[in-house]
Amino acid sequence: IMREEDLEVAIKVVIVGNGAVGKSSLIQRYCKGIFTKDYKKTIGVDFMERQIRLHGEEVRLMLWDTAGQEEFDAITKAYYRGAHAAVVTFSATDRHSFDAIRSWKKKVEEECGEIPMVIVQNKIDLVDQAVVEANEVEAMARNLHCRLYRTSVKEDLNVNQVFEYLAEKYLTHL
Ligand code: GDP
Repeated sequence: IMREEDLEVAIKVVIVGNGAVGKSSLIQRYCKGIFTKDYKKTIGVDFMERQIRLHGEEVRLMLWDTAGQEEFDAITKAYYRGAHAAVVTFSATDRHSFDAIRSWKKKVEEECGEIPMVIVQNKIDLVDQAVVEANEVEAMARNLHCRLYRTSVKEDLNVNQVFEYLAEKYLTHL
């Protein structure tokens, strides 16, 4: 007999963006609650997961890491296959990573179609090293019709919000 509480929603979330913007750190922070300065990507691990309760429902979020294969063509189709939501990440300290946002979004859409997506501006703790103006980031997010989250994985700022929003958005469109 299947009871209400046995039903579980599983959401595959792909985390994309240029190298070194903090994708693995974001996943590690959300799933394990830790931040390590020189976290080495685990070879062979496709994703980490965390279970949350949302509106009385158990939701299992599976966060997929590109494992250092940030070149568009290096990322396999299997990485994107069946994704329900996406996080497009850049670093506040890396201009190139910001300029790449549009192509990452396009890539996700090519592979996954229209799925819930957010833009994450990470490393906002590094105020002195910031190279992107707040207004241009906001303009970009508006332009791409994506919600923007400004995070510090290091300081644990706004990390949970990213995934709660995506889970919420996915669930309400089921
Ligand atoms: P990835 O290549 O996108 O997966 O990036 P990583 O997660 O490996 O992070 C690259 C570097 O940035 C690592 O040294 C992290 O410790 C560091 N990092 C990640 N997030 C933050 C953050 O919010 N603030 C600061 N100061 N450093 C961060």
